[in-house]
Amino acid sequence: MAIAFVQMSFLVSHLKRGNFEKLMDVNHIPLPVVRRLCCLPEQMQACLQRSAIRLAVQICRKAHVGRAAKQRIQRYALMLSRNSKSTDRLPDRPMNDSFCTHNIISSDTSNLPPYSGKLQEYWMAGNGVFLRSHRPELEVCLAIARCTVGNLPQIKPYFRLVPSKVPASTISEIIQICLEAGEREVLFYLSYTNQWQLHVPAQTASRTSVAATESSFNSTYETALIEIHSHAGAPACFSTQDDIEESGKFRIFAVIGSLPEKPSICVRLGVYDRFFDIPISWIFTL
Ligand SMILES: [Zn+2]
Repeated sequence: MAIAFVQMSFLVSHLKRGNFEKLMDVNHIPLPVVRRLCCLPEQMQACLQRSAIRLAVQICRKAHVGRAAKQRIQRYALMLSRNSKSTDRLPDRPMNDSFCTHNIISSDTSNLPPYSGKLQEYWMAGNGVFLRSHRPELEVCLAIARCTVGNLPQIKPYFRLVPSKVPASTISEIIQICLEAGEREVLFYLSYTNQWQLHVPAQTASRTSVAATESSFNSTYETALIEIHSHAGAPACFSTQDDIEESGKFRIFAVIGSLPEKPSICVRLGVYDRFFDIPISWIFTL
């Protein structure tokens, strides 16, 4: 309940300050969902399902909530990710409908209809189950389960990065900054408006962690399409902690590691509570 409470109080505090639309933009949450979250009575907050808790993790990471509250939330999220039974005990409230649609493709066409406006669309087709989502710079429809379903048309999956790929010069700049940081991790945001813009937010970093310290509002965090962090000399693999911190967002994530000898980069797409490993070449010009 404490988790939901932090989320609610955070949302409400921004609502009172008139930041309604900001909350939507930052989290890509439809306005009705934000309104609904803020109106939930306390006893309902305890019943928020998994995606809402991940949302809380995301919000609390960006907000300046107390360290103890943040740790409590992260512990709880970790427990949920390791123990599916614990999530089963959280009733799936109708709020889920505000995030997702579940669809079966029409039997007479393989064309998908226009986007529904929900954050995630699940589609069952003749060649499996697909997850579709979009934002201005990115449109995706990717398989989450491959199987044959008789008498249904097949969907052609897609991944459309609207801007041009990130230029090699930006990668070189990122690696140079990582090298200068030595054994410390570094966090970067990349956003696109006419051209790619690299931002290194104010941050606290150690050999095993990095977190932005600047407010997420009116910051480059809001507009970032790509989040990159380094693991310094450690391998470029997403950690369990990365999974927690990067859940609940629809954006691209990259981790850089094995510095300085063999710089390597690993890329994935996050669609809220699901990750897809994707080739580096889809995002970066090498
Ligand atoms: Zn990491």
